[in-house]
Amino acid sequence: MTRDKVGRPLGSLRVSVTDRCNLRCRYCMPEQEYVWLPKQSILTFEEITRLVGVFASLGVEKVRLTGGEPLLRHDLPALARMLAGVSGVRDLAMTTNGLLLAKQAEDLRRAGLGRVTVSLDTLRPARMRELARTDKHADVLAGIAGARAAGFPLKLNTVVMRGTNDDELVDLIEFGRAHDAEVRFIEYMDVGGATAWSAEQVFSQREILARLSAHYGAIEAVPTADVAAPAERFRLPDGATFGIVASTTAPFCRSCDRSRLTADGTWFLCLYAERGTDLRESLRSGASDVALKDLITSTWQGRVDRGAEERLAVRDRSPLYQVTALRADPHREMHTRGG
Ligand code: SAM
Ligand code: SF4
Ligand code: SF4
Repeated sequence: MTRDKVGRPLGSLRVSVTDRCNLRCRYCMPEQEYVWLPKQSILTFEEITRLVGVFASLGVEKVRLTGGEPLLRHDLPALARMLAGVSGVRDLAMTTNGLLLAKQAEDLRRAGLGRVTVSLDTLRPARMRELARTDKHADVLAGIAGARAAGFPLKLNTVVMRGTNDDELVDLIEFGRAHDAEVRFIEYMDVGGATAWSAEQVFSQREILARLSAHYGAIEAVPTADVAAPAERFRLPDGATFGIVASTTAPFCRSCDRSRLTADGTWFLCLYAERGTDLRESLRSGASDVALKDLITSTWQGRVDRGAEERLAVRDRSPLYQVTALRADPHREMHTRGG
């Protein structure tokens, strides 16, 4: 097994299939204009599949399709089918904003996609208009229903922001319960792209638990065997479970086995990493699988990244990057790295 400098295995890979998005979530894409990755730099399905095959041969078992919005990539079920066929990949999942999911859920399920996570920050259409600049809240709900109808195990991701949606925690838990989907509350992170971030808006794991236990009663932690799982899971007195991803106030870098491949084939070892490794260049200049394997192995073996833990030590935190730095290199954007 390939391990990094502090012993973390290369276990899961998030594959961004496009940097484009049909939403403008305030915590991810708050600006009016963006610099996009050049079209000719975007990996083909064959190139993605080849790279995933190399990663899988090095121990990657979990692959998650993301973006931007992954469902904007033309014929995503075809890619899902190709990746489902890669030997060693035992968990193929996708994170989506759900807008286009209703139409594609059946095809994705048939193609071999295993699980879906839909981002849902609010149950209120007017609030979504404010938060993500869209009138299509109903399409997200239709996407969630479509995914359930297609038979997908489902999770819901909610970024909790103080003063924005922290009053909906109970409603979201109840929505999840009604739709057989586990909710995961995510702390607002100061990642690249989150130019409107401020420490005051972070609604912490501790506050989330306090808010929920005031409503439901005593909450207990659910032990997990998966040490690399980003979410801590909890159980309400009535048995319902939910997760919290406390990436801002209680980061879990020490057990992080995740890396990220952007749509143009740049490989990042951490959400906060300054620089990535250009795998597209190697691919397109004819590197053999063995050469790609060597490059990936040696890069991972040098990994010391623990971005969120380092951010925790920063006094008077402000957004990681200002707009000019993001425009100079769109690889710094969360919507390019895939979250
Ligand atoms: N567009 C898809 C979606 O929204 O599900 C996939 C890509 S999105 C970048 C992946 C995840 O990152 C989403 O669940 C989103 O809520 C989360 N995310 C984006 N910006 C964030 C931030 N500043 N803090 C915490 N989570 C964030
Ligand atoms: Fe929102 Fe996801 Fe689009 Fe970012 S990439 S703006 S989180 S839908
Ligand atoms: Fe992993 Fe980096 Fe996130 Fe820490 S900040 S959990 S090392 S991706």
